[in-house]
Amino acid sequence: MRIVLIGPPGAGKGTQGKLLSSMLRIPHLSTGGMLRTMRSGTPGQVQCRLQNWARAHLNTGELAPDELIMQMLAERLQQPDCQAGYLLDGFPRTLGQAEMLDSYLERRQQSLDIVLDLRVELAEIVRRLRARASVENRPDDADIVVRERLRVFEIQTACLLGYYEKRGLRTQIEATSGPEGVFDKIQAVVNQMQRDHGAA
Ligand code: AMP
Repeated sequence: MRIVLIGPPGAGKGTQGKLLSSMLRIPHLSTGGMLRTMRSGTPGQVQCRLQNWARAHLNTGELAPDELIMQMLAERLQQPDCQAGYLLDGFPRTLGQAEMLDSYLERRQQSLDIVLDLRVELAEIVRRLRARASVENRPDDADIVVRERLRVFEIQTACLLGYYEKRGLRTQIEATSGPEGVFDKIQAVVNQMQRDHGAA
């Protein structure tokens, strides 16, 4: 199963991604997590430009260039553990990335199964990110960067919801309740989808 999780920063993509990937036994691929790891590691040649980008910009809320992110992800998707499916968290984030992912999948005669759109009110997002900043000490959770990340989400990522809606892939999940309540809803949607696929 190939799943995309979309939501603003603080929507719970990381938490829900972990839960869902362990339920379905597919890898949870977070491009933000990959960039954070790469920033401190010794990369291969393709990743050198991304590592430079990450060192200079990762804490600013800006997005990395589409082509570089797609290259990084494509390398990861070719690993054996991704052959039975995967869950993408934080990718795609732009229309360009969504189109690149579509062509990547088409070339392999594959497609996405579902796009989970995590909906959370702005005030709740700000509250969660402030709490996370004090616990995880993530520099990109600082107030000024949070505002930038939310702005970037609205400008670059929110348009993907229409893109996936048109393809019949988008399912909205009301994600304001606690993590367990949200996961119950996601589980119900995914189980239903598996039943429908089984019946088709
Ligand atoms: P996240 O952990 O998903 O919030 O991502 C942290 C940061 O990594 C983002 O604010 C961006 O700077 C960068 N990033 C993560 N995923 C992408 C992506 N798909 N495209 C471009 N930049 C990304």
